[in-house]
Amino acid sequence: MDCIFCKIIAGEIPSHKVYEDEETYAFLDITQGTKGHTLIVPKRHVRNIHDIDEATAKTVFARVPKLANALKKAFDPIGINVINNNDKPLQSVFHFHIHLIPRYEDDGMVLQTEDNQQDLSEADYQAVREAIVDALD
Ligand code: AMP
Ligand code: ZN
Repeated sequence: MDCIFCKIIAGEIPSHKVYEDEETYAFLDITQGTKGHTLIVPKRHVRNIHDIDEATAKTVFARVPKLANALKKAFDPIGINVINNNDKPLQSVFHFHIHLIPRYEDDGMVLQTEDNQQDLSEADYQAVREAIVDALD
């Protein structure tokens, strides 16, 4: 399989590893959006949130606080964004990953460029809520 993160996990291409255990691997994002921008991935190849099984999700999400706390201790950021992109418009590597992005005063990092707040009526809220509840397995 031609997956860059599988190759990183296998040691076939280099990475700046910060953490590894039996099931997960964490390394610096090659594009350091801010200092310490880290990715955590399951070693098992899964495309994204729609393919991941609950056990793998549990494991990889469970590691996020450990890494977030290490980033906080290492760099004293004012905050940390935890982000996961799935399909369009932002997923570019199709091996599930969670971004940890430490935030600093005036760091210039832009996650949202416009105010997306939608003007919903109570009926709209109810329709949206029902659609989600009906879709839950
Ligand atoms: P996403 O857009 O959420 O799919 O994020 C994929 C991330 O993987 C991007 O932020 C890239 O900078 C990062 N990336 C791509 N190739 C590498 C690599 N070889 N080592 C580390 N990070 C990478
Ligand atoms: Zn992979």
